[in-house]
Amino acid sequence: MMIRFENVTKQYQDGTKAVDSLNLEINKGEFFVFIGPSGCGKTTTLKMINRLIELTEGTIFINDKKISEYDIHELRWNIGYVLQQIALFPHMTIEENISVVPELKKWKHGEIKKRVDELLDMVGLDPETYRDRKPSELSGGQQQRIGVIRALAADPEIILMDEPFSALDPISREKLQKDILDLQQRIRKTIIFVTHDMQEALALGDRICIMQHGEIVQVDKPEAIIQNP
Ligand code: ADP
Ligand code: ADP
Repeated sequence: MMIRFENVTKQYQDGTKAVDSLNLEINKGEFFVFIGPSGCGKTTTLKMINRLIELTEGTIFINDKKISEYDIHELRWNIGYVLQQIALFPHMTIEENISVVPELKKWKHGEIKKRVDELLDMVGLDPETYRDRKPSELSGGQQQRIGVIRALAADPEIILMDEPFSALDPISREKLQKDILDLQQRIRKTIIFVTHDMQEALALGDRICIMQHGEIVQVDKPEAIIQNP
């Protein structure tokens, strides 16, 4: 077991209860998808895992240790985070963008360089061609691939993805879905993925958690959700 939510509640200052008494276990190496309509609490749930949002009640455990007991920088560096908006640093090259966290973790220069090339290869971008380019010189789909490998750069155990493909056109989106599944076959990380698209959830998830009004409606494998929606 990898991540455990125990009676987790988030109430914002204005009184909105975004997440209500969530109980959930996410396994190591699992591709876990949260799905539900806008406003149901998916992003809040995700951001509580890396403490971008502090929870109001309950506890989240990672590897049986409370997230509040981790050093916050340690926690964030070990949890990759991919956002919907392409969030690359525009003034930095692709190589520099991917190197941010490894540099914070004080990896050796040669090690980082090797890692950058390996990651670019993993998503089908030729390192020679792309490492020195600026984000604006890449297509939307290519930029989002960089967003994904940047989150993987320092080899985190957990990767959070918040609607990472929703700004893309349908073809790029389908291609990235395939690529992320191939990637997951190889790296076997714990991936927690937020979407409001059921097709995408069914295509990607080992298990799917359907949320509504801050609560869990159903958690199951895709096959079971298709048979019993
Ligand atoms: P989702 O990701 O499913 O769209 P969110 O987690 O973003 O849902 O939001 C859940 C609920 O919490 C919504 O009602 C939203 O308006 C509210 N909410 C989110 N962030 C804040 C905030 N900073 N302050 C107050 N309410 C918020
Ligand atoms: P999402 O794509 O997850 O639904 P939103 O567009 O709803 O995100 O929210 C974007 C940002 O605004 C988030 O950081 C969220 O915390 C914040 N936010 C969302 N709803 C509210 C709200 N009612 N009051 C204040 N902040 C909010």
